[in-house]
This record gives sequence, structure tokens and C-alpha cells, in this order.
Amino acid sequence: MKYLGRVLKEHRDRNEVIGFVPTMGALHRGHLSMVERAVKECDICIVSIFVNPAQFNEQSDLLKYPRTPGTDKRQLQESGCEILFTPSTEEIYPGGTDIDLSIPLDHLVSEMEGKFRPGHFEGVVKVMHMLLSIVTCQYLYMGQKDFQQTCVVRHMINYYDFPVKLIVCPTVREEDGLAMSSRNLLLEEDMRSLAPVINKMLNWCKMEIHRMDIESMRHAVLNEWIDAGLRPEYFEIVDGYTLQEINDPGASVFIVACCAVWAGEVRLIDNIILKDQR
Ligand code: AMP
Repeated sequence: MKYLGRVLKEHRDRNEVIGFVPTMGALHRGHLSMVERAVKECDICIVSIFVNPAQFNEQSDLLKYPRTPGTDKRQLQESGCEILFTPSTEEIYPGGTDIDLSIPLDHLVSEMEGKFRPGHFEGVVKVMHMLLSIVTCQYLYMGQKDFQQTCVVRHMINYYDFPVKLIVCPTVREEDGLAMSSRNLLLEEDMRSLAPVINKMLNWCKMEIHRMDIESMRHAVLNEWIDAGLRPEYFEIVDGYTLQEINDPGASVFIVACCAVWAGEVRLIDNIILKDQR
């Protein structure tokens, strides 16, 4: 860690721009698209791989999280990433994961992932605080795939006044529309073939948002997923700033539909921007 700090300082002393892509590994094209963007936009691209125990609300989920260190390293070399940071839990949490870095997150975590994964975003805030304290970067690249996470991290950056700009990158998808995710590796074959209906219905919402009322749209989407054999945990149409559910699409300039859906034993999340007049 000391070594990394010295290396980054040398880059900063040369006025070089540092771009940082934090990940939990099992890298796929979604991660790599952000790495490639950071390589293009910055002088130095640093990627971290750290499966953060503090953000898992289920121990079993942490244990079965996919880990592919060999291929991750090779793919990062091929994408032009200059520095790979793979800290141990002790390096990130020298005093243990119970460290209190809580900040008021209020309405940002009252719905969706925050509601169904209690403690998850508190864990995300902890790890991002520790990572940004070590990896002193100017640009932080994160995916729209985890939309609520980008809102929480943006809030945290502002709260602590970290001198970093958050760049939210578009979701990269498989050819059939399924959002790429490390968890896709865990899908059984039959569930993998059902899963694209998640994105299909999000796209349908985008077409219908100006024609249909929100409640009917919600029902139609949930029914379609259930009929297909999936188990939706939530599907919410929210204001993209407040993350609160909306009923009137006309009253909001930025609307996002977000969901978590179980495909067998695998929990998939996805979202789509339905309206963006920011
Ligand atoms: P994870 O390794 O799942 O913690 O993800 C690390 C980063 O990659 C997060 O900022 C995610 O939002 C982003 N990410 C994950 N999946 C995708 C995807 N399909 N497209 C773009 N970014 C993604």
C-alpha cells in the first residue's frame, strides 16, 4: 500500500491524470469498457479488485461470489490498465470491517437495493471511502448498471469533499440484452435463457412511459417476469435524483426504472433511464 501511494504520488507530481475503476473482479466486458475508457481519458488507469465483505448482507453470497484472478489479470493487461490493486481485507480495514464511516444516506437508501439488502450501501460507503483514501485519483469510473450505487457514491464524494469526478458509464449487455454481471457466471442454463426478458421489459417501459400510467406498467412488467419463471424482488420507477417512486412521469425530468429479479438462485439487477431531460 505504501508502495502504491508512492507510485501514485510520482504520477501526480508529473501532473498526470489518474483514472480509477473499482471492481470486485470476475471481470467481463462491462468492467473492461470502463477500463478502456479510463485508459483513453487518463494518463494512468488503476483498477482495484476487492470482494468487499462489508457490502454483503448474506455470508453465503460472499462465499459463492465468483473469483477469476488469472483471467482478470490477463484481461486487464490486454486493456492497457497500468496498475492492478488487489488489497487484502486487512489492508482495507486495518481495524476490522466494523469501522464506523456512516454518513446520512436517508432517502437514497430507503428503497430498492437499500431496502432489500440492509447494510449494503453502508458497506459500499466504507469501502469507497477507504479506496479513495488510498487511490488518490481525479476520475472515478462506475457503471450505470448499479444506478443506486452511483447515487450513493456521488453523495459520499460530496459529503467528504473528495477531489474526484465520478463518471457514470453505460451498461454493457450480452447480445440478447442481459446486462453483463459477474453473477451471470452462476446462472443455471435454463435461467440464463429466461433472463433476457428482464431487459426486454425495461425496454418496453421506455416505449410506453408516455402512453401508459405507471401503475399499469408496473403490473404488466411484474406479471411478464413471473409468467416467464423469474421471481421479481422489486421493480420501481423512480425519480433519478431522489430515488423515490413517482406516479406522474410529467412531474420529473429524470426517470429511471430499476429492478432486482431472481433467476433461480441468482439475484440480478438492472435498470433503464426512461426519461432524461436534465
Ligand atoms: P462489480 O465488480 O460488480 O462490483 O462492478 C464494478 C463496477 O463495474 C461497478 O461500477 C459496476 O457498476 C460496473 N459494472 C458492472 N456490470 C457492468 C456492466 N454490465 N456494464 C457496465 N458497467 C458495469
